[in-house]
Amino acid sequence: MLFFRIDLNRNYFFISFKSRGPRLTNHTEEEILISVEEALALVLRSIEVLGLEKVDLLSSLGRVIGEDIYSLQDIPPWDNSAMDGYALRHDDIKFASLKSSILLKVVEDLPAGFRSSKVLKKGEAIKIMTGAPIPQGTDSVVMVEDTVQEDTRVKIFKSTEPGENIRSAGEDVRKGDLVISRGTIVGPAEVGMMASLGRSFILVNQRPQIAVLSTGDELVDVDGELGSSKIISSNSYSLMSQVKECGATPIQLGIARDRREALEDKFRQGTRADMIISSGGVSVGDYDLVKDVLKKMGMKMKFWKVAMKPGRPLAFGMIAGRPVFGLPGNPVSSMISFEQFVRPAILKMMGHQSIYRPIIDAVALENISKKSGRKHFIRAIVTCKDGVYYAASTGGQGSGILFSMVKADGLVILPEKATEVKAGEKVVVQLLNTNRVFAEKPGYP
Ligand code: AMP
Ligand code: MG
Repeated sequence: MLFFRIDLNRNYFFISFKSRGPRLTNHTEEEILISVEEALALVLRSIEVLGLEKVDLLSSLGRVIGEDIYSLQDIPPWDNSAMDGYALRHDDIKFASLKSSILLKVVEDLPAGFRSSKVLKKGEAIKIMTGAPIPQGTDSVVMVEDTVQEDTRVKIFKSTEPGENIRSAGEDVRKGDLVISRGTIVGPAEVGMMASLGRSFILVNQRPQIAVLSTGDELVDVDGELGSSKIISSNSYSLMSQVKECGATPIQLGIARDRREALEDKFRQGTRADMIISSGGVSVGDYDLVKDVLKKMGMKMKFWKVAMKPGRPLAFGMIAGRPVFGLPGNPVSSMISFEQFVRPAILKMMGHQSIYRPIIDAVALENISKKSGRKHFIRAIVTCKDGVYYAASTGGQGSGILFSMVKADGLVILPEKATEVKAGEKVVVQLLNTNRVFAEKPGYP
């Protein structure tokens, strides 16, 4: 087959010579098949990070932090005891040992939460609990296990070094330290750290609201009447779950019938959200009206065909400043297209610094063949043995086989030009389900 390309005012004319002779088709610029990489770059270029909001400390868990958190004080704020024991002057007990203990006078009993007003004198000790401030005049703490107290005296069986068993002021963080930087995902340790810094409210990036629309005359909601020709709109739920998995909030727009007015009405409702995702109706069938409707609503299509399998048709553009993704209808295609384009876009909107799924090398456990031309995403079961990852196909790879996504831990990605991979060869796998990697037993070394 031969192609001539003539640029005429943004229109390309493709003349293809097939066995039946030349055929002329008219394509507009945006109708050209683009690579996954180009499509992703176009999407990300159009996405802006949302603003910030203030949330209470515990609600910040899992959110992206929107401010640099500095310490306004030393933590711990004062020297304190790391042990239950006796605070003393190391000079007094430097010759203490198991065989020859040294006797000191216990002048106070100091629990955590109280400060001693005494200044220790030679030959004295203060009984001290973990976390209590180090009394004046003492320079070390001997563990209670190395002592025996008798009334108001204590026998010390071990010497100490100056500073021993003392946690010094600022050893955790110092006043002025940058403790958590903007863009960090808040985990339990960050929540604890911010609590210790006295931060009860935190600025985090907003969570986008993502409108999810399913299109198709054949669709009913999950408990709707199926009759002899309807199917359940599973995409509504898989897509809303993918949105939730990103940490964003799905807005259920429901199902639009394959009519221009119905579609326009739903898309218009969606413009109140931060992003719109639809599924179905973007292909070349008679009832695939999504692209037309979006164009009529003023969307400039940035692309609508991506060189990938599953999932070639995929319309992307902006309406009223909102990104709109017209994902393909087939259940696997919509999920995989979401993974490649929508998920990174949502994560970017939310201020995430890392927006891509982990990519690993794995050994293919079977031969795979494909046609050259598109990037293939093959659903795979991923296992790990002795530190090596292995990938086996989940079986049937049809774009309607949703069960293949249920089984998949990752996607083997084969580049456009590849035509085959042999069992034992290295493949690249995008991990989908990092929270499926569990240990079978505690496995401590
Ligand atoms: P379309 O791109 O609209 O032609 O849809 C392609 C295929 O995906 C058809 O078999 C549809 O029935 C199916 N499909 C479309 N939307 C959904 C949905 N929301 N849930 C499940 N399957 C769907
Ligand atoms: Mg349809």
